Amino acid sequence: MASDLFSDIEYLKGVGKAKGEKYRKLGITTPYELLYHIPRDYLDFRTHVPIMQAELEAFNILKLTITKKLPPKRIRSGLVVCNAAATDGIDNILVVVYNNVYSFHAMKEFQTYYMYGKVTGGFTQREIFSPTYISADSPELIQPLYKLTQGLAVNAVRTNMKQAIALLQSSPFETLPEYIRKKYDLPELVWALKNIHFPESGKSAEYARRRIAFEELLKFQLGMLMLKLRRKSSTPFVMDSSLSMADFYAALPFELTEGQSNAVNEIIADLCSGSSMNRLLQGDVGSGKTAVAAAACCFAAKNGFQSAIMAPTEILAVQHFKTFKAFLEPLGISVALLTGSTPPKQKSEIRQMLLSGEINVIAGTHAIIQKDVEYKALGLVITDEQHRFGVAQRAALAEKGDSPHRLIMSATPIPRTLALNIFGDLDVTSIRQLPKGRSPVKTYAVTGKKREGAFGFLRARLDEGRQAYVVCPMIEDSESELFAVRSYAENAAATTLKGYSTALLHGKMKPAEKEDVMERFSRGEIQALICTTVVEVGVDVPNAAVMIIENAERFGLSQLHQLRGRVGRGKFESTCILITDNKNEDCIRRMKIISSTTDGFKIAQEDLELRGPGDFFGSAQHGLPPLKTASAADVTELSEEVRRCAEELLRSDPALDRPEHRAIKIDTLKLFNKDVVG
Ligand code: ADP
Ligand code: MG
Repeated sequence: MASDLFSDIEYLKGVGKAKGEKYRKLGITTPYELLYHIPRDYLDFRTHVPIMQAELEAFNILKLTITKKLPPKRIRSGLVVCNAAATDGIDNILVVVYNNVYSFHAMKEFQTYYMYGKVTGGFTQREIFSPTYISADSPELIQPLYKLTQGLAVNAVRTNMKQAIALLQSSPFETLPEYIRKKYDLPELVWALKNIHFPESGKSAEYARRRIAFEELLKFQLGMLMLKLRRKSSTPFVMDSSLSMADFYAALPFELTEGQSNAVNEIIADLCSGSSMNRLLQGDVGSGKTAVAAAACCFAAKNGFQSAIMAPTEILAVQHFKTFKAFLEPLGISVALLTGSTPPKQKSEIRQMLLSGEINVIAGTHAIIQKDVEYKALGLVITDEQHRFGVAQRAALAEKGDSPHRLIMSATPIPRTLALNIFGDLDVTSIRQLPKGRSPVKTYAVTGKKREGAFGFLRARLDEGRQAYVVCPMIEDSESELFAVRSYAENAAATTLKGYSTALLHGKMKPAEKEDVMERFSRGEIQALICTTVVEVGVDVPNAAVMIIENAERFGLSQLHQLRGRVGRGKFESTCILITDNKNEDCIRRMKIISSTTDGFKIAQEDLELRGPGDFFGSAQHGLPPLKTASAADVTELSEEVRRCAEELLRSDPALDRPEHRAIKIDTLKLFNKDVVG
């Protein structure tokens, strides 16, 4: 069967069933999909070095002429070693090929090759091991490197890639209309796909990548914008802007910061606008998003509408319930709590009161958006710590009730460029300042040798009346050498924290137990909480002023920032001590960044650069389709341009129905799967 770009990859010459399976493992089922298996890097043979300048015990590129091939030697059962003497014109080296007679045979005496392999040896005798090589007169001196799988060698992928490119060239097509390519300086698709795999020069590889990354981000943003446009629907919950919030402000125990007031005003304007709100409230940890949410609920209640606030954990739901109760009940607004562990009898009472409208504000977990929970007039839905909810859940929430207003709160600041992508379907408000009187949390990264000192410091702060968190990465002991919170807590209670009241908190405890521990910690009865990352989101105990994080290397930057945000929430000077013995470069860099700044937006940008956008996009956290080509730098550099392009496109052709837009439309729908975009 003649193969074309969209037939099964098995039909490519030389692939067949077995290799086809390997490709499927990489998510590649057709030659077309193979084309989008973008090189993870290139081997640029033009950057070769002389033998004497090779870095020892590392991979190097050398330009070598074979002077003499020695006969293969069989050393152990089945293992064959082949040696050849070679020179770069100045010095000599031994080429050693293990167990690959085929590769050795292809190497000819007196021929010159570029070789890439590990170089070892000393000053006099050097060796290069099992090198990848190409002839020095090969026209393709830049070779792509791919993510591979066992049984699929890079040479095979390169060969198949060339076949796929030939198929593309024999029936070329284009996905971006010419006017867009011209305006944004993007090469044609066929050229780009050829050059991203087999670039004529380093520059053409870059130019090709830019085109492919641009297109990828464009489809992404188009999908997001289409979601946004679809949701800008009119709402029956139109509120009255003349209602006064004076009583709410008067009853608050503090004055709102400027950032908080601006946020409240923007939200109120949305609630009165006639179309349904779809707003993301971004604020660094401790910036006071809860008070803003309470103000919004208060305003909705004054207008006779109900509000629901949804948190990702029970601990947080309970905490919100208490805060909202304290802020709102004195104003005659009734607040209730509904979670997975609310007893059935109480649950049905609450449901009844939601239906009758006796409850104005409900705090809870996912339980509050279950199908069987009905409301009299649910006008506002707030989700806290939104980074835990994906696009699909955002969509599900939007369907609840009669298109209520939606406010999404996130304490994981996202760099603007990334926010454009991740939350392209939302309007964004950012609170950039913290309430007055906070001093930034002092952060230190130390090794295990300083553990005793760290605990000495912690005890001194407990003696002054403060409280503390000690965070471990695991719950139970395991094979690994990581600290487990259960044994750690026992140990600490008997040694370092003897005489202090301590308690254990982790995600596998029963909800009632967790609640009880949190309650006692909030009241100050527990001095030190030995816990896992269950405290990562939202927990608010202003008297807590010290945090020690064990195995700090286990946590990503944003997560460390979140954890650290549990201290420094009150008027007390606070300290965070990160303990790690890990010398990994990446880890050291993370420790440096986290100790040098408390600016969540800066940390988020660094995190993005360290981890790459694939991690941000593909992860369940955001529930977004993964990015294949675009790198962190692409996202940062291209997003604004791409956003403009997407907006122009939708302005001129809102449903993307024009023939020249068909290809983009189809891909965009595929990316987001049809029902979300609709
Ligand atoms: P986050 O934005 O991380 O959710 P919270 O809403 O939990 O932050 O607020 C953090 C702490 O700051 C809480 O103890 C809250 O009572 C307090 N707070 C909020 N706003 C102010 C303010 N304007 N002035 C003083 N304290 C405030
Ligand atoms: Mg919060």
